[in-house]
Amino acid sequence: MQTYSHYIITAALNRVWKKHEQSRGSLTLAGYTLPPIKTAPLMLGSVLPDVPLILLSLGAMTYDRMHGIQMSFANDPAHSLTAWLFEYAFFNVWWVKALHNLFHAPLMVLAYLLIGYGLWRQGRAWGAGLFWLAIACLIHTAIDIPLHYDDGPLLLFPFNWTLRFYSPVSYWDPRRYGNIVAPLEHLLDLGLLIYLGLGWWRGRTLRRQGAVA
Ligand SMILES: [Zn+2]
Repeated sequence: MQTYSHYIITAALNRVWKKHEQSRGSLTLAGYTLPPIKTAPLMLGSVLPDVPLILLSLGAMTYDRMHGIQMSFANDPAHSLTAWLFEYAFFNVWWVKALHNLFHAPLMVLAYLLIGYGLWRQGRAWGAGLFWLAIACLIHTAIDIPLHYDDGPLLLFPFNWTLRFYSPVSYWDPRRYGNIVAPLEHLLDLGLLIYLGLGWWRGRTLRRQGAVA
């Protein structure tokens, strides 16, 4: 899924969860009381899994442009650094795989989640932030895994560096229903943006009325 869609989905979840938290005092999951929602780490966590590869691809594209190489993902990897990154390094170079899976791999993210929860229980201030950052990464990766054919997260990283879920559906590849998934994804984005926009508008009106009263 596109990075901005992860952000929009998480923003909508943040709104729903905050409402629940306000009405009930705290959120619970399977009998466990969850740390108070930390919106900034939650929103950071929604995009963080993609950040390393975005930075690497920006670097590769800049290099290609500076050297007059036509930018293309389908170029000859021997000539274009961008093509090398996406067609070779993504699957074969250990540090590129590690960076991509630092916040994508389910086991890594679960570890951050448990560490954050444990720290919060011990009364450490940033435990709640780490917990909500990990929750957002977990949602990100739960959406990514069924929407990638051969370029999704490594399922058992760091213990296994090759196992991926070969989904029949891809969010981008037209050979794997990408031409259907992409419009649906953007329709979802639009619906969620309207939901968020209406909520913001209502909140603003209430705040104004509060200020007048
Ligand atoms: Zn991702």
